[in-house]
Amino acid sequence: MPAAPVTDTLLSLQNLHKSYGNLDIFKGLNLSMNRGDRLVIIGPSGGGKSTLLRIVMGLEEISGGAVYLDGSPYILSEAGKTKVERALQARVGMVFQHYTLFPHLNILSNLTLAPVKTRGLPKSDAEAKGMALLKRFGLEQKAKSYPSQLSGGQKQRVAIARALMLDPDLLLFDEVTSALDPELVAEVEQVMLELAEQGMPMMIVTHDMFFARNIASRVVFAAGGVVVEDGPPEQVLDNPQMPRTREFVERVFASKR
Ligand code: ADP
Repeated sequence: MPAAPVTDTLLSLQNLHKSYGNLDIFKGLNLSMNRGDRLVIIGPSGGGKSTLLRIVMGLEEISGGAVYLDGSPYILSEAGKTKVERALQARVGMVFQHYTLFPHLNILSNLTLAPVKTRGLPKSDAEAKGMALLKRFGLEQKAKSYPSQLSGGQKQRVAIARALMLDPDLLLFDEVTSALDPELVAEVEQVMLELAEQGMPMMIVTHDMFFARNIASRVVFAAGGVVVEDGPPEQVLDNPQMPRTREFVERVFASKR
């Protein structure tokens, strides 16, 4: 029997279709990501970037196509129904724009809830793991605090730690700094850069082209329901090959000057 093909592909979106009513968001989008990739998705507002991440997290119905994780069917569209393989979904983590911590639980309990309830991790192990992550992010003093007692930047760092508690193989970041006061952005970006250095595969939606250039191994410009350009940041951000990408990137960089 021939050996299984050796592949670096972690995630593959194939001929993805998505619509909300009459509004077609994706019209046959193809995108794949390798294990070592930190993929930043850029594109016009309303173009479907957030929807794309939510699909990969298994939170959205798709109208057609398929998503594969590690070569296995993860999300399929069959006879108009979306089927999400729950065991694979558990390997993907997501951090949202608006920190979604549970307000009535302290920080450590926010971290331990899912691993204890959904993974059956013993509470003491979950707490040790949670404390180690808080320490790594400089937040161990906050373990017994409640979310309302933390700054926005601290809350977002806790949200990242919470996603890491479940040992994801892929981490999705949806505009995680755009609701923050400007002086709090750097501390969250720093945590993401550290994760990048440690090799965590990430898919990131951001409007911050400077951060995109710092963290991306690949930049994808998506518009009109398809991938327009896909390449290293030096290409897509600094020397785009497609006129549509060039127009978008020039406009975004110009607005920051
Ligand atoms: P982006 O992240 O690129 O700004 P989104 O994925 O948020 O884009 O949205 C893509 C389009 O889909 C927008 O036109 C938005 O209004 C629409 N949309 C998003 N979510 C829904 C929904 N739940 N129902 C209907 N339309 C939606």
